[in-house]
Amino acid sequence: MTIDDLPIRDELKGKSPYGAPQLDVPVLLNTNENPYPLPEALVARIAERVAEAARNLNRYPDRDAVELREGLAAYLTKSTGFPVARENVWAANGSNEVLQQLLQTFGGPGRTALGFAPTYQMHDLIARGTGTHWTQGPRDDDFTIDLDVALAAIAVQRPDVLFVCSPNNPTGTAVPRETVLALYEAAQAVKPTLVVVDEAYIEFSHQPSLLPLIEGRPLLVVTRTMSKAFGAAGLRLGYLAADPAVVDAVQLVRLPYHLSSVTQATALAALEFTDTLLGYVERLKAERDRIVTELRAMGLEVTDSDANFVQFGEFADTHAVWQAILAQGVLVRDNGVPGRLRVTAGTPDENNAFLDAVRAAIKEL
Ligand code: PMP
Repeated sequence: MTIDDLPIRDELKGKSPYGAPQLDVPVLLNTNENPYPLPEALVARIAERVAEAARNLNRYPDRDAVELREGLAAYLTKSTGFPVARENVWAANGSNEVLQQLLQTFGGPGRTALGFAPTYQMHDLIARGTGTHWTQGPRDDDFTIDLDVALAAIAVQRPDVLFVCSPNNPTGTAVPRETVLALYEAAQAVKPTLVVVDEAYIEFSHQPSLLPLIEGRPLLVVTRTMSKAFGAAGLRLGYLAADPAVVDAVQLVRLPYHLSSVTQATALAALEFTDTLLGYVERLKAERDRIVTELRAMGLEVTDSDANFVQFGEFADTHAVWQAILAQGVLVRDNGVPGRLRVTAGTPDENNAFLDAVRAAIKEL
């Protein structure tokens, strides 16, 4: 018996589960994680907060995660200068779950989602998983979104949900504010369309957040995560900011008590350490810019990056280069973008190991 013999839904047939190879090598730069472990003072604070939560584990958690949403709203207000209230914020187990709840609410059978490829593959997979028809428009050769091409795709596909990933994974490309505004207007002109701006990597960007665009645009949602800038991928905490009506709408599909008391307590502790954690982000941004400069100095073609990773190429045999870098003990990501690989910015030592490995790999070819 294999998966092909099972009567699974048609849109899942022939698909592979999402996930990068988890190999045991010294330098792991393949999944856009933050390389810095949480500071010990935060670990101690998490232990305190979780102990408090543990005393009440006989009870269900706060179903509406009120204190946590207050904390996230305060963080968004402080970091963007745009006033965000608890009513604008919703949280779930990773931004993947937030995206799933949005598609369960605004997508589904008979509805269409549109994204611009190459982009985050989970947009496609979560769409399929929720029975939403997935379509994609292309990007330019430099991986930016060509507005005319994108507007044509909206006119043809008539999406119910439009994904704009900024900064985009796996290319690192930020989307200009004017482009998002034009896409929003064009989509609404066809039919009411939920526009999801996935800002998983925004804290690493040279560009400001697009979050203030939610003002007066009830169908624009910005999704965020604590997995990258907060260095807490293991926590599983993602969130969104939008009109309060969108937050009310996702209540229709969220499972009751989806966010455990332990998760809420841990996320609240991490928010207390926001300034320290964002200090690591500054280091990573500097390292990201150094990687771009050094790869370009090697004569490689490197996509401008606003994220904590860098896309580089162009290689005739991408797999051979991936393998040659791996042979030096450094794991990077082949996202299936022709001729390109992606490396996550790590610690300075890890990045040096990566840059040495690339130098050796291209000499061999
Ligand atoms: N959006 C983008 C663009 C991502 O790259 C990722 C993680 N790789 C996510 C969302 C999901 O992150 P998480 O579920 O950990 O919040």
